[in-house]
Amino acid sequence: MNGISIHLTGVVQGVGFRPWVWRTATALGLSGSVSNRFDGVRIELYGSDCRAFLEVLEREPPPLSRIDAVHAEEIPFRSMEGFRILESETAGDALQRIAPDTAPCDACRRELFDPSGRRYRHPFINCVDCGPRFSIIEGLPYDRSLTTMRTFDMCTACAKEYADPADRRYHAQPVACPECGPRIEPENWEMAWCEAMERGRIVAVKGIGGFHLACAAQNAEAVATLRRRKGRESKPFACMVPNLEWVKSICALSAAEERLLQSRERPIVLLKTKRTFPSLEFLAPGLDTLGIMLPYSPMHELMFDRYPHPVVMTSANHTAEPMIHTNAAAAERLAGIADRFILHNRAIANRCEDSVCAVHGGQTIVLRPGRGIAPLSMPEASGRTILAFGADMKNCPALAHHGQVTLLPYVGDLEHPEAQHILHSAVERELACFHVVPEQVVHDLHPDYFSTQIAERFAATHGIPSVGVQHHHAHLAGAHPGPAIGFAFDGTGYGTDGSIWGGEVLVYTTSGFERAFHLRPFALPGGEAAIRHPERVADALLHQLDPERIDNPATRVQLASGLNCPSTSSMGRLFDAVACLLGVCGDPTYDGEAAMRLEAVADGSECGDLAFGIRDGQIDWRPLVADLLDELAKGIPAGILAARFHNTLAEIVFCCGRLLTERHGRLPWVFAGGVFQNRLLVDRIKRVVDGAYELVFSSLPNDSGLALGQIRIGAEPWASR
Ligand code: ZN
Ligand code: ZN
Ligand code: FE
Repeated sequence: MNGISIHLTGVVQGVGFRPWVWRTATALGLSGSVSNRFDGVRIELYGSDCRAFLEVLEREPPPLSRIDAVHAEEIPFRSMEGFRILESETAGDALQRIAPDTAPCDACRRELFDPSGRRYRHPFINCVDCGPRFSIIEGLPYDRSLTTMRTFDMCTACAKEYADPADRRYHAQPVACPECGPRIEPENWEMAWCEAMERGRIVAVKGIGGFHLACAAQNAEAVATLRRRKGRESKPFACMVPNLEWVKSICALSAAEERLLQSRERPIVLLKTKRTFPSLEFLAPGLDTLGIMLPYSPMHELMFDRYPHPVVMTSANHTAEPMIHTNAAAAERLAGIADRFILHNRAIANRCEDSVCAVHGGQTIVLRPGRGIAPLSMPEASGRTILAFGADMKNCPALAHHGQVTLLPYVGDLEHPEAQHILHSAVERELACFHVVPEQVVHDLHPDYFSTQIAERFAATHGIPSVGVQHHHAHLAGAHPGPAIGFAFDGTGYGTDGSIWGGEVLVYTTSGFERAFHLRPFALPGGEAAIRHPERVADALLHQLDPERIDNPATRVQLASGLNCPSTSSMGRLFDAVACLLGVCGDPTYDGEAAMRLEAVADGSECGDLAFGIRDGQIDWRPLVADLLDELAKGIPAGILAARFHNTLAEIVFCCGRLLTERHGRLPWVFAGGVFQNRLLVDRIKRVVDGAYELVFSSLPNDSGLALGQIRIGAEPWASR
């Protein structure tokens, strides 16, 4: 084979693909050309050994690329001189992927600490294989003039590297050096940082996707001050630690967790800590896990070079507000929180919080798709252009076009008006960036959700049809298109009957579902407020068992009258109530706290379980709660009962799954919803099922993955009617 034409699709632009092709072809003595096209990269190769190129491509493609498809065909040999990188083809309907931000590559890290190099200790060092991408991109095509690096004119030395195909900074858009690149303020920042950490001060640091608030992680007083100033009572703080050895000293790491920590995405990984780690008490009160990440920017590398101890690194904001990402907002809004500021003058185009991941068994699950992961894209079957707005908690919209679906920047909770504004403007900007107009808008079924209202306003403004999709159906369809038996367990989702669902077993496809089983409904005294006061939910359970056991007379009266007591089948609320009955959590101060504490106290070696009933399409929790109260009265410890509660839920899953398999034949069992962030529960389900059925656990279990399912369901013909 001495002539070959190759067409590649996937994440192949803005990741150093063309210079990689140039270097590889040149090394193999091949002639030809490479060009970016609107739908990928096209390569023509001529020479005696074209096949060798395909082998290298398969074995070691450019580190940041993701190749979805390779189409190669033999073409007649042409005599050409050398190998050329052709100018990009511009197309009105550009189909481009934006690469995520990436931690420094080994070569850049070596250069960073090489005193003889011209980028010695340069906090913005990067190359075509690493550095900022998504966070600095203002528009497409990916070119320096459309990034926030446009305000920095390259010096002669940088410009030379940028133009040399043999250099690893060839067309590296954020290329910079101490001479021409961004600067940190104050000038002696490394010293200021070290001093502040040693003295227990709180420092606002501008990073890749926004500002962090940092303090010494093992300094209880500093952490307490940060909690007080930020208004964050007990929600765990993520920590950045100097290196892997440090992680190993406080956590028992699996190989998969180790890989994830060191991956170029560098997410926060939720790790089980050793009980001997004393700071856990104030970093993650009541929990046995801690969010840990490794340094992911050259600036971090320099910080730990000066101060080699773990630091709290938390998004800079007041609780419930979006993360701050501009110098002006930091100066204005962090003045009462931070003692010191470390700023730089490279603007952040796309605000991007740290990603949060965990490993369940061998599977990586994403709890927050942020910096390093965003924008996450994957193939989509319909090929239609669809925009999905997600839900109101952990909001993350998604856009499908040209057979790809992309999760847009993670917005978070929409309660704050600024977050609503961010969602609206992010969607508009993204559409302008990709030059696409959606043909269908999808949103949650909840009529009062901000996301629903923003979606409908958007659809009306642009004259696009919009459709509401049931929350739990979307959770499941996002994990598996079906047909399948789905377990959607979460805190809140609007049901087709107008009540709050959350403990749902559905038999579904992307075009519809049957609500086969659900948790026996109970009341939420005071509605939404019951989420913050689990003892009210516990009382609602008691109300169905034995109203005499309710201590609070006001709640007893309210439950008896049914006034302002909406009904729910929420699994999340059942967790809250059980945690409350077992005394492991007071009023939760953050979403999921009760369930997380319940999981943390559970004794993993306990194999017992509790009673339950399944009849008339309902999962009856009454025997379970009665059992729990009896055992508690006998003096059985909360840790044992918490474990039995988890074991029982696994039994319930198994029972429902088997009944539905008898009815509908063998289908995969799919699991989605925030409850499946619970590692113990997932573990117990796997153990009970023991390979007898195919299990699919969502890799984006909480509401941040909801828009993926909304897209799949919205792509069905019925949705556009
Ligand atoms: Zn690099
Ligand atoms: Zn320079
Ligand atoms: Fe949900």
